[in-house]
Amino acid sequence: MDPSRRISFEFFPPRDAPGQERLITNVAAKLAPMDPEFFSVTYGAGGSTRDGTLNTVRALLSAGHAAVPHLSMGTDDEADIIALLDEYADSGVRHIVALRGDQPSGFGANRFAHNAEALVKLVRRHSGDHFHLVVAAYPEVHPDATSAAADFEFFQRKIAAGASSAITQYFYNAEAYAYFLDRCAQTGVDVPIYAGIMPITNAESLFRFSEKAGADLPRWLRYAMADSSNDDDLSKFGVDVVTRLCERLFELGAPGLHFYTLNRWGATRRICANLGLA
Ligand code: FAD
Repeated sequence: MDPSRRISFEFFPPRDAPGQERLITNVAAKLAPMDPEFFSVTYGAGGSTRDGTLNTVRALLSAGHAAVPHLSMGTDDEADIIALLDEYADSGVRHIVALRGDQPSGFGANRFAHNAEALVKLVRRHSGDHFHLVVAAYPEVHPDATSAAADFEFFQRKIAAGASSAITQYFYNAEAYAYFLDRCAQTGVDVPIYAGIMPITNAESLFRFSEKAGADLPRWLRYAMADSSNDDDLSKFGVDVVTRLCERLFELGAPGLHFYTLNRWGATRRICANLGLA
C-alpha cells in the first residue's frame, strides 16, 4: 500500500455488550489488516450515546486499535464536554472528530444553537494542542446551509478556529470533491481533506439516509440500484462503482479515504482490496 494513502473506518456504538464484543472480534478484526490510521466511533444526536461511544472507544483501544471518538455539542452542556475531553485524554486518545451533530428529534431549533466551530474553539481552549481535531466538510453543501458560499465560509472558520483536518460527507460525484479541493487551495485552506466513502449495500437505507444527509444520488446510480435483483447483485455492483470512485479520488489528489462502514466489513474490505490497500 502507498503509505501516503491513509484510510480510516467509522463505526457507530453498538447497543449492548455482546454487540460491542462482535464489533471488536468480527468487524474490527476483519478490517485491521487494511492498516487503518484509526477506527472512529460516532456520537449519537444530543449525546444519546455518550457512554456507548466512550465504552466502544475504550474497547477498541484495549484490543490494540487506534480509536477516535466523534464528539458534538448540539445539546450538551460545556461541563459534560470538558469531562469527556479529560476522560479521552487520560485514555490515550489523540484525535477527535468535532461536530455540531445531528439534531435529536423533539428538540426545537432554539435548543440547537451551537455549531462545530464553537466546539473546535472549546477543545482548543480546554485541551490546547493535545488533540488532532477533525471536522466535517460538505462538497455537495450541507443541507441546512443558506448558500454554498456561506457553507464554505463556515467551513473555513472551523479550520481557522484550530481544526487539523477534515473528512467529507459521502458523495458519488467525484467532481464535487475536485471543486471543493480547488476552493480550499484558492482560499489558503491547507489541511488534508479526506474523502468520506459510503459503500453501497442496501438501496432503501441509502436512499433514506442520503435524503437526510443532503448527499446526491445520481439518477443513473439510483436506476442501476433499483435494477439489482437482490442484495448480492447490488453489493457486487456497489463494490465496482465505489472502487472506481475511490480510484478517481486518488487521481484527484485525495490524501486518503474514510469509510462509513455501518459496522459491516464485507463491502469495505473488498473495495480496499480492489484498491490495493490491503
Ligand atoms: P457545522 O460545521 O456547525 O455546520 C452545520 C450547519 O450550520 C451548516 O449548514 C453550516 O453552513 C452552518 N453553520 C456553521 N457555522 C455557522 C455559524 N457560525 N453561523 C450560522 N450557521 C453556521 N452526526 C452525529 O450526530 N454524530 C456523529 O458522530 C457524526 N459524525 C459525522 C462524521 C462526518 C465525517 C460527517 C461528515 C458528518 C457526521 N455527522 C455526525 C453528521 C453531522 O453532525 C451533521 O451533518 C450536522 O448536521 C452538521 O455537523 P457539522 O459539524 O458539519 O456542523
